[in-house]
Amino acid sequence: MAQDRKRQRPNILITGTPGTGKTTTSSALADAAQLRHVAIGDLVKEKNLHDGWDDELQCYIINEDLVCDELEDFMEEGGIIVDHHGCDFFPERWFDRVVVLQTENSILYDRLTKRGYEGAKLSNNIECEIFQILLEEAKESYQENIVVALRSDTVDDVARNVETLADWVKNWHPVS
Ligand code: ADP
Ligand code: MN
Repeated sequence: MAQDRKRQRPNILITGTPGTGKTTTSSALADAAQLRHVAIGDLVKEKNLHDGWDDELQCYIINEDLVCDELEDFMEEGGIIVDHHGCDFFPERWFDRVVVLQTENSILYDRLTKRGYEGAKLSNNIECEIFQILLEEAKESYQENIVVALRSDTVDDVARNVETLADWVKNWHPVS
């Protein structure tokens, strides 16, 4: 709800399949646009916002309510980049822009293999990218006019995406 917005600086969600470059892009954008980068995975670990470890998926079981409670005050203030591989449990009103990073399959495959992903974890993530699951989730969870898909295959793509988004931040104005 635009009318409820009190923040003076925008909040951005950067989402996408693991390995598409969310953390790389978010931290570069945080520097370029003087925003604060919050990687949800790190926050969950640091503040114990989970319900234990999922052995099968090899990740923490995120407690979504705890994460949202933890972030509410920061998000209200604005100027935050949220970096997460999911987007459907955050309040819609938090974000002024939702960026979905996308990577060509063979490139993503190499990145995830390098990261040590294998078996079901590897194939699930590749499938997630092929079927554009995160783009669909973003379009279902937010107004389509704030959702943007950006290619993230090369380092040039990162530089261009950061520049485009930093420009957007600079030109963003709160609704009075
Ligand atoms: P995510 O946070 O989405 O899981 P990362 O930002 O951690 O992805 O990137 C995963 C790996 O891929 C890192 O080694 C990073 O340097 C590399 N990488 C990410 N995006 C790109 C890109 N657009 N071009 C080249 N390398 C990239
Ligand atoms: Mn990451």
